[in-house]
Amino acid sequence: MTNDGTPSRGTSFGSSSLRGMSSLRGGLVDHRMARRATINEVHRGRLGREEVCDAHPELMRAARSVGKRTETPCPICSEDNLVLVTYVFGPKLPSHGRLAADNKELAQFHRRAEEYTAYVVEACCTCRWHYLVRALPIGGQRGRRQVG
Ligand SMILES: [Zn+2]
Repeated sequence: MTNDGTPSRGTSFGSSSLRGMSSLRGGLVDHRMARRATINEVHRGRLGREEVCDAHPELMRAARSVGKRTETPCPICSEDNLVLVTYVFGPKLPSHGRLAADNKELAQFHRRAEEYTAYVVEACCTCRWHYLVRALPIGGQRGRRQVG
């Protein structure tokens, strides 16, 4: 059963706007290799920068406002450091997910009974490279009342 419907590659922001989503489902190791392979293809000139540096405007806005700076230089342009942006998808949240500004906010989701998925995306504010780094299941906590 799926509750996210058909992914639409349109102008609206959603989980389908996150590059790497499909390979992430195949496992974390494969996912890292897929990311590496994408970067290599760009450096070999087999993949145009414009094909991978196409972060959605929403993602770029989020990266600039709440993105967490890392010490990792952008693998594509090396002109800027990558920032990490976290989106939470789950029940009662908008289809484009909810931007998690900080760990405190993530922790709040984690304490809830509903199950959510937090998607961590790396992005470069200079060239607009973006890639889904990892997906973490959060939430699904049973209240203490139910135990005792
Ligand atoms: Zn860059």
